[in-house]
Amino acid sequence: MNRENETDIGKAAESPGLPPFRFSELLEKKVILQDWGEYEDFFRFSSNVGKIDEGSVLVKVGNGFELIQGFPKIKRAIMLAPALKNHFKDIYSVAVEEKMNGYNVRVIEHKGELVAFTRSGHVCPYSSERSEHLLEHDFFKDYPEYVVYGEMVGPDNPYVPKDIYGVESLDFFVFDIRSREGIPLPLHERRELASDYGFTQVELLGEFELGEAADRIREIITELGKKEHEGVIIKDPSMILQPVKYTTSQTNCADLRHGFRFYNESGKDYLFARVVREGFQSVEWNESEEEIKDRCLRLGESILRPMRESILRVQEGERIRDDVRIRVKDESTIDRFRMYLERLGLDVIFSPPERIGDEYVVNIRKMNRSTTDKTLGIIEGQLWS
Ligand code: ATP
Ligand code: MG
Repeated sequence: MNRENETDIGKAAESPGLPPFRFSELLEKKVILQDWGEYEDFFRFSSNVGKIDEGSVLVKVGNGFELIQGFPKIKRAIMLAPALKNHFKDIYSVAVEEKMNGYNVRVIEHKGELVAFTRSGHVCPYSSERSEHLLEHDFFKDYPEYVVYGEMVGPDNPYVPKDIYGVESLDFFVFDIRSREGIPLPLHERRELASDYGFTQVELLGEFELGEAADRIREIITELGKKEHEGVIIKDPSMILQPVKYTTSQTNCADLRHGFRFYNESGKDYLFARVVREGFQSVEWNESEEEIKDRCLRLGESILRPMRESILRVQEGERIRDDVRIRVKDESTIDRFRMYLERLGLDVIFSPPERIGDEYVVNIRKMNRSTTDKTLGIIEGQLWS
């Protein structure tokens, strides 16, 4: 970091309301981290600092900085009816939007180009390139103070590839428009504005009086579950109260299937939480013996089958990996994305790009060395320690 930057960061302190000395200190302690390469104008927060959430980003603008708030954590209802009654008790009705399963990005325009940040505040070169093609630029010219939040969904997805939405490659589904300080637009106003600019949006599944909401949401969840869709986000239409999420049993199981393939890499809390959700949903929904059996089978299969497959693979001499795919227009995005993943510490193998129309498709192999090694060790007689 050169001296000039050091002074600028001192100035930045004034915008988020921290004294300047605190800033150099945070930088030194690596609480604030500068992005690299062409993205040196961005500094992300690697943890919460006062009112600034982890994943927030400082953007260098002229001689000063602007703060872009991160995306707040959405709390989960485990028992739907009492959770809704409790959380939304001060309002009359709630809006229910589909919760789409992809990855979270927020987009701004900087020096004439769209820049997409991941949840953690990194600039993702792939998501930035895709946003350039997926989002109407006029919006950012007309509303430079707004940040567009959305879910990147579809099969050409390096983080959460899904085929279930009928998206051919990758699409950006807007679910929030916020000021840079993180204040959201009211839901209907946001949907109207997004529609004025032709943005693809998450689906609004209904607006219900509080008294009937849990029953209606249960019907919605049952239908979404049949399609293996993830669930819903329940929102205060004025966006003053925090939203709440609720998910389908099928998505819990899909997460477990994926998680247990790489059992030595998946967080134990991540896996355990999904089992707990199943217990509460089964009781709240007052299931019949047959429904309980179905659920048990679904849950058990999603834990054991992927593990068996991983073990068999390693026995056959293969290495455990996760295959994903990206599709780009600009060939240089491929290398920039590879460097980005490597900097994050991922072990990846990129296939040579295949030209399809005016785009390039690249297969990416994410190697799960830890699960492979653990499995190999056990097969060779190692004891679990
Ligand atoms: P957290 O629990 O901290 O919010 P997470 O990554 O564990 O984060 P999820 O369980 O996937 O999150 O649920 C929250 C995420 O759902 C949001 O970060 C957002 O990316 C995604 N999402 C999908 N559809 C919507 C929607 N309609 N409204 C808001 N968020 C949505
Ligand atoms: Mg998600």
